[in-house]
Amino acid sequence: MTQRQSTTGACRFPGCDQPRQPTSPHGHAVYCDNPAHNKDTAYRARYRAAVAAQTQELQRLRELLRTAGLVTDPAGANGAEQVA
Ligand SMILES: [Zn+2]
Repeated sequence: MTQRQSTTGACRFPGCDQPRQPTSPHGHAVYCDNPAHNKDTAYRARYRAAVAAQTQELQRLRELLRTAGLVTDPAGANGAEQVA
């Protein structure tokens, strides 16, 4: 009935392939021994990666629309619009 987290496998921090290290005798071994790799920093890194991926996709779609001639004056990268 004892169910233990495996300590094998790679750190769950995005892009890190170091082996997992247990943080405490009862802790979940999901991150390596890098102190910068923890639940909070991993969440922020995944969030930044998701935002970057969405920004890339948005730029790709804008380029597609521009190429198709559906958009002649695309908004700036920050979405700011000039109002006269
Ligand atoms: Zn790591």
